[in-house]
Amino acid sequence: MLDSHVHVVPNFPEPGVLFRDITPLLADGPAFAALVDALAERYRGKIDAVAGLESRGFILAAPLAHALGVGMVTIRKAGRLPGDVIGVDYTLEYGTARLELRPETVTAGHRVLIIDDVLATGGTARAAIELIESAGAEVAALTMLLELEELGGRSRLTDYPLDSILRY
Ligand code: 5GP
Repeated sequence: MLDSHVHVVPNFPEPGVLFRDITPLLADGPAFAALVDALAERYRGKIDAVAGLESRGFILAAPLAHALGVGMVTIRKAGRLPGDVIGVDYTLEYGTARLELRPETVTAGHRVLIIDDVLATGGTARAAIELIESAGAEVAALTMLLELEELGGRSRLTDYPLDSILRY
């Protein structure tokens, strides 16, 4: 039922890229609630914090953290966090990027769930793992709303439990 709310948009954000748009799913109250409820059931009692990746990961991480009664860690694009930050550069399906984290927002030893909307090549997820581990916490699992299987991200993340809700 969730997959009918994900729209396929050719040539976005660049020619040749087939973009999966999750905004219709977010806009549907029952579908969004069903997604967050399913994630909360899966991870209840198993994690100490949820780390969301900017920006669509935030949309999923915040309600999940609230449902589980744990904190949310924000992993952001370069230059957006104040104060002391650590950063990792990585390559994307379309371009290069840098993610940053304030280490003081991570508690050493916490079991952290990393969440994002889409797993494509896995570069973003790997950068997030590096940041969480550099801050002294444990990556307990990763969860992605959509996994684009042909881009092979899963093969770059074999050391970690990886869940995806929808696979293409
Ligand atoms: P990766 O680093 O795995 O190649 O790319 C994953 C990142 O790119 C995610 O943060 C995701 O938001 C974004 N991304 C890549 N392809 C798509 C797509 O088709 N749809 C959406 N919504 N995001 C995408």
